[in-house]
Amino acid sequence: MSKINLMGYTAQQMEELFTQLGEQPYRGRQLFKWMYNDRRTDFDGMTNISKELRAQLADRYDIRGLELKKQSRSSDGAEKFLFTLEDGHPVESVLIPEEDRAALCVSSQAGCALACRFCATGTMGLLRNLTVGEIIGQIVFVRELHGVDSLTNVVFMGMGEPLNNFANLSEALRIMSNSMGLGIGAKKITVSTSGISPKIKKLADSGHKVRLAVSLHAATQEKRAQIMPVAETFGLPKLIEAIKYYTDKTGWRVTFEYVLLEGFNDTKEDIKALARLIQGIPCKINILAYNPVPGLDYKRPSDGKVDWFARELYPRAPAVTVRKSRGREIGAACGQLAAEDKA
Ligand code: SF4
Repeated sequence: MSKINLMGYTAQQMEELFTQLGEQPYRGRQLFKWMYNDRRTDFDGMTNISKELRAQLADRYDIRGLELKKQSRSSDGAEKFLFTLEDGHPVESVLIPEEDRAALCVSSQAGCALACRFCATGTMGLLRNLTVGEIIGQIVFVRELHGVDSLTNVVFMGMGEPLNNFANLSEALRIMSNSMGLGIGAKKITVSTSGISPKIKKLADSGHKVRLAVSLHAATQEKRAQIMPVAETFGLPKLIEAIKYYTDKTGWRVTFEYVLLEGFNDTKEDIKALARLIQGIPCKINILAYNPVPGLDYKRPSDGKVDWFARELYPRAPAVTVRKSRGREIGAACGQLAAEDKA
């Protein structure tokens, strides 16, 4: 009989497990700390747990991380990890080091059901939600490989729509932000959504207080629906209402992601529409030039066009940044994740 994998257990689940084993709940918290904070995967080294209990645990449980299938590094320092899940599905994470920080872009689903027209992951369809252990496992793996300080921030911008895997996302956030767990402060965690309005409100009410990013990519309902089918279900008025709810409730500003697609959303009219849409919302707009995906129609605008767009928008928005693409040559840039090495 295969052993039960404890990777992904929250502190509360660990306490419950130990209660079931006839032990004090605080023993569960000790194991929780060993696993995530001290990065031990063998019960033997957990010296403040009795020998008998360690043997009992090793009999029925283990702590399994993710299996790496391929690792690639781009010349700009971005590093892509392709993992094979236990059922064979592929999933990817990307580590993006910068001068004073390093963000790990993690996946929340294998594939994605939302089929945004410009996105490589969207062409895969949804294979399944990742478990809590598989979400956490991406962070644990990179820390094992490069050390705890190798990543300072976590962004849910990899494969999948995190808010469509809400329960597992929520538990993963609990483990990440627990100082006895992975100890990553909530303000260093960004959840990026394509705009699932009711779940944005649910996240606001959850008390996690993580940063929110919204993939906007077009400032009118009509244009947005052309490239993001999800906009037909969750239209712009409701989305804006949910975002305001989030910013009011958490006190954080929201980040709008705006991928510039040559000839589609990069005109003066688009800038005016965008400025109107974000009026009154505490926000920052991240402009990003599209990273072309083979087989998809959209084109990358020139650097000059990107700069022009940002310059024109700048006086009409609270904050504008141009995000440089990292990892393009290894297919690790935004919208390019498609696990091309399918397991
Ligand atoms: S952009 Fe995000 S939400 Fe849209 S298909 Fe790709 S992974 Fe899914």
